[in-house]
Amino acid sequence: MLDVFLTIDTEFWCRSANPTPDELSGAFDEFILGVGSSRNWGANYQAEVMNHFGVKASYFLEALCAPTLCGDKTRDFVSYVRQHGHDIEIHIHAEWLPFLADESLPATPGKHMRHFSRQEQATIIAQAVKNLHLVGVAEPCAFRAGNFGANWVTLQALADNGIQFDTSYNCCYFDAGCAMQEDKGISQPVMRNNVYEFPVAVFRDTPGHYRPLHLQACSFAEIKYVLESYAERGWKSCVLVSHSFETLNSRRSGRDAVVCRRLEKLCKYLSEHPDKYRTIGFSDIGSPDEYCNLQPADAPQSNYFRTVSRHGEQALRRLLY
Ligand SMILES: [Zn+2]
Repeated sequence: MLDVFLTIDTEFWCRSANPTPDELSGAFDEFILGVGSSRNWGANYQAEVMNHFGVKASYFLEALCAPTLCGDKTRDFVSYVRQHGHDIEIHIHAEWLPFLADESLPATPGKHMRHFSRQEQATIIAQAVKNLHLVGVAEPCAFRAGNFGANWVTLQALADNGIQFDTSYNCCYFDAGCAMQEDKGISQPVMRNNVYEFPVAVFRDTPGHYRPLHLQACSFAEIKYVLESYAERGWKSCVLVSHSFETLNSRRSGRDAVVCRRLEKLCKYLSEHPDKYRTIGFSDIGSPDEYCNLQPADAPQSNYFRTVSRHGEQALRRLLY
């Protein structure tokens, strides 16, 4: 049985350097709810699709800004997600620190979590957990750094806060934020610094080139191939990444029908194969050690046809949405 973790980084961004309350509220509507003219196509729509097919997701909610700067909206959103049976976990973008004017948090600017010391990272994570408590998230147990910008010290800081799981390891981001590189790549969970690291799933789309299993970046055929390959290898977990705004078009004024259809196909496929796949959250993990200590192995190698087909599908998206 392959446990599939559908993880959705849930966050918003503002265009101005000093956003007003109205701008913050508008950004929440735009990036998280996906408020459109006909209906909302963001995180709530995604939850409805997943519920229709009986699959579970983990929403990694940016915990520095949303709970503190849009408290009421975030509380309503958390309540909605929990009522639909999904988990809320911790996501942190250190870029928000200058906006918070909190003297207890590090004053030194840093784009990624890895730019801070263990003590500073532990302080930031502790504040994020407190913020989540304010909006009704009692016991988050998993973390992902914004931009995958963690290092192994991040896991020490998580352990300091009693957080058991991290899922920031993404080998496709070693040049762009993630500082968790090791001699041997990690393809399945490992224990490091008293925290379980669940790496983001990857595959090779051309020889020697790795592609992360991101909903927006892969065709359904590629996602299905990775799930089948992981299951055939007897691997225990597969972490897929998405965002609250991935089902929206590039202007975030309506849906991206290609990605919406991709999500629907994925959920349908998972629901049709309960013998092979189970979608769970990190809070459902009973015995984490059972996921660890598999022999290291390279990521699955996809084929030319799937890669070319995806290029065509993505080009169509750029043209239409
Ligand atoms: Zn993020």
